[in-house]
Amino acid sequence: MNTNTPIRVRFAPSPTGLMHLGNVRTALMNYLFAQQKKGIFIIRIEDTDSQRNYDPRATKIIADLTWLGLDYQEGPIKGGPYAPYFQSERTGIYQEYIKKLEDKKLVYRCFCTPEELEKRRQRQLALKLPPRYDRTCLKLSPAEIAQLLTEKKPYILRVQLDQSGSITIHDLAHGTITFEFKNFSDFPITRADGSVTFIFANFVVHYDDQNGFKRNKLVIRGEDHLTNTANQAALYEIFHAPIPTFWHLPILCNAEGKKLSKRDFGFSLTDLMDAGYVHEAIDNYLAIIGGGVFEQEIMNLDELAQKLNFDHIHSTGHVRYDVEKLRWLNHKWIAKLAPQDLMERCLPFLLKSYPQAEKLRYIDNTYSSS
Ligand code: GLU
Repeated sequence: MNTNTPIRVRFAPSPTGLMHLGNVRTALMNYLFAQQKKGIFIIRIEDTDSQRNYDPRATKIIADLTWLGLDYQEGPIKGGPYAPYFQSERTGIYQEYIKKLEDKKLVYRCFCTPEELEKRRQRQLALKLPPRYDRTCLKLSPAEIAQLLTEKKPYILRVQLDQSGSITIHDLAHGTITFEFKNFSDFPITRADGSVTFIFANFVVHYDDQNGFKRNKLVIRGEDHLTNTANQAALYEIFHAPIPTFWHLPILCNAEGKKLSKRDFGFSLTDLMDAGYVHEAIDNYLAIIGGGVFEQEIMNLDELAQKLNFDHIHSTGHVRYDVEKLRWLNHKWIAKLAPQDLMERCLPFLLKSYPQAEKLRYIDNTYSSS
């Protein structure tokens, strides 16, 4: 193996809504890791769900990352040697892998409607049973399937898990994790409109890349993806492929210890931008929370890339998002800004509250940067 090959890490957002701080932290950690290890930071857009694609060319995502100073080497707009960087543009290859799974007889059609599935889930919960797909459609006969297809009943494809089996993955924060498949549902790889789920697309891209020696060996993402990891690992196993190492970043929690939600101030990056937080403070804050003790807390991106210790990552459970601390860092960073820079950053806020201030630009040219 060529040890000089730079490590490749990727931020793989789904463009389904505004960037929240958990996403920002994931992007930031990927960026800082790549910087420190002289690796490559890739942006890959997981946009296979066309119904929920609110940012079709990822322009908002890229604008946010640019504002944060998280420059990338490969991805949308910039392109790169392993384009496309939009998962929706790889339809052909997904069909190839679906065919391979069909040949192995490891996928089946599921005609259950979301309402039926929800009803059964509620019943299982009421009976204190783990909510899992009950394999109704695995029991359909070929004649029943043919009939449902003639009726044009919509279906999805599910991967049949070996429920007596288990799989072990390695996570930089959690160590070794073993998932018992008896606790998991046969998971969907397509939607009713025929598009593929991100779990499947995510696997196919990693696995297929491996053949070109460009596979990401480390996947840094939020801990909310742990259960998806079991399903993705099952796919790696089916194809006898080495499973990447993961680093699942802890979930951000509010002051009450609950998962940060839309109701909490500063949930989305836009909240913070609109409230006048500077990108230096946001990067600084999100990089140092949950990451140990630092002699000097105020650090820019270059300093953070040098100082973070990626060789000793501990599982920190949930990380508390402390707006007071962020505010303090914001204050420190604002105090460091050069007057001209500060004025330029304040101007949009002034104009928003006092549109008539626009005139001042022309009266006093010291007021305008142009
Ligand atoms: N697309 C997923 C998300 O936006 C991330 C999946 C991954 O990083 O592997 O949450």
